[in-house]
Amino acid sequence: MSSGNKVYDVIVVGAGVEGSATAYHLARYGKQTLLLEQFPLPHSRGSSHGLSRSTRKAYGAQDFYTKMMFEAYKLTADLEKECGEELFANCGVLSVSGKGRNFVKETIRCLERFNVPHEKFNVARQRVMYPQLSFEDEHEFVLDHSGGVLRADKMLGAFQDQFKKSGGIIKDGEPMIDLYAGSIVSIKTNKTIYKAKSVVLALGPWAAKFLPRIGVNIPLQPMKITVLYWKEKNGSTYDVSKFPCIFVEGATGQNDIYGVPSYEYPGLVKICLHHGPDIDADNRDGVDNEWVIKTMKYMVSKHFPTLEQEPSVVETCIYTNTPDHNFVIDTHPSWKNVVIAAGFSGHGFKLSPVVGKIASQLATGQKPEYELTPFRIDRFFKNKL
Ligand SMILES: Cc1cc2nc3c(=O)[nH]c(=O)nc-3n(C[C@H](O)[C@H](O)[C@H](O)COP(=O)(O)OP(=O)(O)OC[C@H]3O[C@@H](n4cnc5c(N)ncnc54)[C@H](O)[C@@H]3O)c2cc1C
Repeated sequence: MSSGNKVYDVIVVGAGVEGSATAYHLARYGKQTLLLEQFPLPHSRGSSHGLSRSTRKAYGAQDFYTKMMFEAYKLTADLEKECGEELFANCGVLSVSGKGRNFVKETIRCLERFNVPHEKFNVARQRVMYPQLSFEDEHEFVLDHSGGVLRADKMLGAFQDQFKKSGGIIKDGEPMIDLYAGSIVSIKTNKTIYKAKSVVLALGPWAAKFLPRIGVNIPLQPMKITVLYWKEKNGSTYDVSKFPCIFVEGATGQNDIYGVPSYEYPGLVKICLHHGPDIDADNRDGVDNEWVIKTMKYMVSKHFPTLEQEPSVVETCIYTNTPDHNFVIDTHPSWKNVVIAAGFSGHGFKLSPVVGKIASQLATGQKPEYELTPFRIDRFFKNKL
């Protein structure tokens, strides 16, 4: 069983947002590209499903992300034009920090460094601007006007549609079972063997299981995230036309919470804990998340008192965390034609247009214009040698 003598320029394994964005760039560069996905598309088993993600330019003290974000906005706008659909709603992102916390201060410094329009204010002003929120006196706020909501499902679909329009081939329901490295890489699936000059592995949470099999033992930890939608008791003050995305640092002591205004399910606001139980990607549903729901019920009643205190919709998604929460975008330590894009640590959607560009450049021997040190595999082993 083999797909004959055909040798693709690149095979991308994993049709989540990072793999789909990579395939999109490759096909646009005229590379013969195959995108392989283990599940029938679309599916909701990984990290890229759902209707919304938040986006923003500020990235605290990590300027390397902010630099990438400027291009991410441009590439997202290009994709919007290509697919003819709105992918971004510019409602802003409101960041909130309590006493002794630094996120808002770092965000303000970042927005100032990059001249991004923003507004900083205290709790008295918050009570006027957003009376539907409730925070104690010592909280600080910054509204990043550049931020907003990405229509995640539309964006993922747009990458895949534009990829196919540029001549790319998608094979879904076809898991990669093995990879044989060499100057030509062979990918064995449940149906056949495909060959390519190079391969990009964008496996999401399954990277934690597959990469050790090809000698890449990086610390990747999948985490179950419970996605909760809450109904407003009266009115529509959380509508995307009136309310921004929100991020509350340390709302539960150690953990942050985030929210997306009512945009996807009419009348429902998404507010979630940025944390959850560690899991195996193939065994996410049986893992207890009652404590997450209980914590969020308390947080919603405390900070979002005009919302009902029982979630109306409960969904599941997965983060794949690295210890420093930075991505992995690198080539295999021994095989330069095997590119790894993994560990997006719960913040990779907004950057996917740029991640895809970088991964496609690494796969085709081009030098990306970004400094990739924060994303290298060897950072995990530096102190251990
Ligand atoms: C609840 C939630 C909220 C988030 N909010 C934000 C946000 O507001 N802003 C933001 O920027 N980011 C956010 N993120 C993070 C972002 O969604 C992820 O970083 C991103 O989707 C990761 O995409 P991925 O392609 O790496 O993984 P995935 O989407 O999981 O894709 C990997 C794909 O590889 C496939 N695959 C795996 N193994 C194989 C194999 N052997 N053969 C074939 N196919 C295989 C899988 O089936 C899957 O489709 C959020 C994530 C979650 C879960």
